[in-house]
Amino acid sequence: MDRCYRLFPCLSDPARRSSLGLKLAMVMVHLVYAGILFLFDEDLIEKMKRVPWYIALYLLLFFATLVQYFITSCSSPGYVIDVMRTINVKDSVFQTPSMASKQPASSKNRSLVITVDGSQLGRNLLGSDTTSWSKLVMDLYPPGTSARTWTCSYCNVEQPPRAKHCHDCDKCVLQFDHHCAWLGTCIGQDNHCRFWWYICGEMALCIWTGILYISYLKSNISRAWWKDAIMILLLIALSIALIFLLLLLLFHSYLILTNQTTYELVRRRRIPYLRSIPERVYPFSKGICKNLYGFCCARSSIYSMDPLPTPQEIEEKLRPYTCLEVVTCRCC
Ligand SMILES: [Zn+2]
Ligand SMILES: [Zn+2]
Repeated sequence: MDRCYRLFPCLSDPARRSSLGLKLAMVMVHLVYAGILFLFDEDLIEKMKRVPWYIALYLLLFFATLVQYFITSCSSPGYVIDVMRTINVKDSVFQTPSMASKQPASSKNRSLVITVDGSQLGRNLLGSDTTSWSKLVMDLYPPGTSARTWTCSYCNVEQPPRAKHCHDCDKCVLQFDHHCAWLGTCIGQDNHCRFWWYICGEMALCIWTGILYISYLKSNISRAWWKDAIMILLLIALSIALIFLLLLLLFHSYLILTNQTTYELVRRRRIPYLRSIPERVYPFSKGICKNLYGFCCARSSIYSMDPLPTPQEIEEKLRPYTCLEVVTCRCC
């Protein structure tokens, strides 16, 4: 065992060992489903010779989904400490004061955007890295909010709104959604989009595999009863997984369209700065189109941190729709 740990140092850490075990289990489940199909279904082998592109496309989806799984599991959710470091490095390089990056607070779409390419960093840099980060975070909260509200008691960093400390990763995560045990990583601002696409890929693979299993069971070839029993059992498990994936996809699509996270939705009453906001208000929503754009396009190269809405913005969101606003799609 010691030799094994020397060859693969990652195995000596129990957390990483169990994460590796889960990843192996995921690969095995995929291989078992596809392997049994190719092993039992002689028709499929015949079909492979007749229409090779059909099976080639299926195998392409199969491997693309596995690759997507590994890419998502290795992706960073956007750790607060990394943004802080990015700002610190840029800060020490440029040493230029007042590089303001906050957009006008009057618009309902206001948000604080920090570009990582170095053009904009923060504002009111007072010589100290921590201070400039503190100022940035402070600007995102309503005036008068105590610093204790946004300082993480575990890693002692100032959290912008929507960030949360993950006890599995032991770091604060920007726009924390949840810690995914299957992927072995957190889902946050930077990898939520990738996670959504991974669910889509996994669901497409489940549907296609299900179709192949059903066509095997419906074919009139004589075969051993135990083969049918195995295929039926696997098909039942596949259907359950498919329902779960479909619900997960619908749930995350709803979150994306309303610019929410799972954590915010489930624990809204326990998040101090969201407690006072009425339930039917989506505090960070900028409209469906802008939420979608922000989710798909504005996350890979920049850290976009949403400030808390002002009382006026909440009032505006609460205002009932007029006929004209329904026609002109105010919600978009
Ligand atoms: Zn923390
Ligand atoms: Zn985590």
